[in-house]
Amino acid sequence: MKYNTDTPSPNIAAVIVCAGKGERSQLPYNKILHQIGRKTVLEMSLDTFAMTKVNHVTVVTSAEDLPAVNDIISTYDGVSVVTGGDTRFKSVLAGLKAYPCDIVLIHDGARPYVSKEVIERTIDSAVNTGSGIAAVPSVDTVKYVENGKTRSLPRAKLFNAQTPQAFRYDQIVDAYSRAQGTFTDDAEVYESAGYSPTIVEGSYDNIKLTTPSDFVASRGGRIGVGYDLHRLCENRKLILGGVNVDYPLGLLGHSDADVLTHAIMDALLSAADLPDIGVLFPDTDDKYLNISSITLLKQVLDKVVAGGYKIGNISAVVIAQQPKLAPIIPNIRSNLAAALGITLKQINISATTTERLGIIGEGNAIAATASCILTETTDGQN
Ligand code: MG
Repeated sequence: MKYNTDTPSPNIAAVIVCAGKGERSQLPYNKILHQIGRKTVLEMSLDTFAMTKVNHVTVVTSAEDLPAVNDIISTYDGVSVVTGGDTRFKSVLAGLKAYPCDIVLIHDGARPYVSKEVIERTIDSAVNTGSGIAAVPSVDTVKYVENGKTRSLPRAKLFNAQTPQAFRYDQIVDAYSRAQGTFTDDAEVYESAGYSPTIVEGSYDNIKLTTPSDFVASRGGRIGVGYDLHRLCENRKLILGGVNVDYPLGLLGHSDADVLTHAIMDALLSAADLPDIGVLFPDTDDKYLNISSITLLKQVLDKVVAGGYKIGNISAVVIAQQPKLAPIIPNIRSNLAAALGITLKQINISATTTERLGIIGEGNAIAATASCILTETTDGQN
């Protein structure tokens, strides 16, 4: 990833603040080092900022996390790191001093879902008005509480401030140099120096990862689909979902030709954005001659887990004129669930015929199709 460091004017830079302990997350390490899918929380923000007019990013972190952050930023051009102080205020100040520029965006490292559009809006506003504070209209009714008495505030006028918060560099440095007291965000520091911050549209997706549930919550799933067909012939076993099916014919193929398991493997691989089974297990390789497809399924599962995903659910259909599969479907289902380490509720298998039409209907082949949803893991465990 390369930042456009050639663009000199206006020179737009960002400070990403990652020096907090994040104790409310209950993670045993800094939450910005937490992996979501294939990236750490910090990388997610860095990658999004790299798509914008931002030329340089200064990451502010603690001395303790410096080696880990250095490791991450070594793969980026235009990103540097400084150590922060014991408060957010001191950390931001350290980040501001590290890289003078024209427009500076200050961003919480714990907001990895920030979008390119939100970043660009704060920049445009700072260029035009001196500042741009990402914020969203308050969804909850906010109460002002004093001495146990509550007072409702007019919701239409309430906004939740987010980051990034963009400022003219000279103005925010001036505000920081004069600020006294405690502040919860940079807009407040800016305000305390007599400047009037401009609000721009943030996003409800731009959440700040704070509590354990923020790290467990899935950010949607990835769909996958697979299809396979094998010819029926004599002198072969019929194996579906790893189960031996009592039938005079079997499926022809290089492996055990378990058409159902093949469709499921391709569904999983496509959802994980990995090459299909034809690429992973080529039928020209003797290693896979007559191999149990359940063995291959477990290898596919390992790849899916290594990619940062876990199975949400799988839904598959076997298309066969004969034999009648209904009596053995429960067996197939539990066999596949056990092989994948998932519950029965996570895998559904059904069967259908083709009304005696075509190659399947004439009893010459069996096909299967499978769909699945994968969700991102936060801990690499299935
Ligand atoms: Mg196949």
